Amino acid sequence: MSKHGFDSADLRIKPGQPVKLSQFDAQGDGSLDKDKTKALTETLHDELYQLQSRLYAEGKQSLLVVLQAMDAGGKDGTIKSVFRGLNPQGVVVTPFKVPTPAELAHDFLWRVHQRTPAKGQIGIFNRSHYEDVLVVRVNQLVPEKVWRARYDQINAFEQMLSEAGTRIVKFYLHISRDEQKERLVDRLNSPDEQWKFSTSDLPVRERWDDYMQAYEEVLKRCSTESAPWYVIPANRKWQRNYFVTRILIETLKDMNPKYPKPEPGLDKVVIPD
Ligand code: AMP
Ligand code: MG
Repeated sequence: MSKHGFDSADLRIKPGQPVKLSQFDAQGDGSLDKDKTKALTETLHDELYQLQSRLYAEGKQSLLVVLQAMDAGGKDGTIKSVFRGLNPQGVVVTPFKVPTPAELAHDFLWRVHQRTPAKGQIGIFNRSHYEDVLVVRVNQLVPEKVWRARYDQINAFEQMLSEAGTRIVKFYLHISRDEQKERLVDRLNSPDEQWKFSTSDLPVRERWDDYMQAYEEVLKRCSTESAPWYVIPANRKWQRNYFVTRILIETLKDMNPKYPKPEPGLDKVVIPD
């Protein structure tokens, strides 16, 4: 972490950069004060709201936010906290589940492309086309030759989206294996959260190292200038929300959406009684 406060470059993976996730501390920045950071995140949230209003009104560009994480990594929590209170007409969330027979009867990007954000919209992917080189790779759901080709296919797809006016940011919410255990235990014991518990998450947890390796290849091969990956330390939810909010604001500021020019002569308009 930078000595001079937050710098998104510290969390962004450079194109081609080899990544060892065991060297990324999921605890985050020990120098951040919890209460102050939470208060700051609230202020930043107002700024996010303003930027989204401009993006929506402008209607010329879109933002695609990809969220990936291990089970209980905080994808749902991030969506609920970071995007709460924005104009719901301008936000579309899509969770990607085990593909349906109809989806499996198409290429792997078919279902994804249908859900990319229209101009003026923020599209949020809760899981994404990256599952097709994560769970699909680890569980060998297709031959290696098929998933190996997908990194380039994903990069080409994202490049095309970017040239069509869709800005892309991708977050890998990085929790430690211990933190996952704690969260799964909480899930198991809380009546309000048991519905989220799936025994099918346990074999996935057993293959933690294989998943980390699959994520490392994704981060190395698919973090590009136009569609960067960020590794977010996510053990502490308040830090995770802070980092994600900062990066979204930075991205939207760079996109610089503007309110459309008002019709000429509005100063002479009188609203009739
Ligand atoms: P959840 O996000 O907890 O609702 O779980 C969704 C499940 O769908 C996870 O176990 C994902 O690994 C799985 N999933 C998502 N996309 C794919 C895919 N392309 N192929 C196989 N499984 C997938
Ligand atoms: Mg789940």
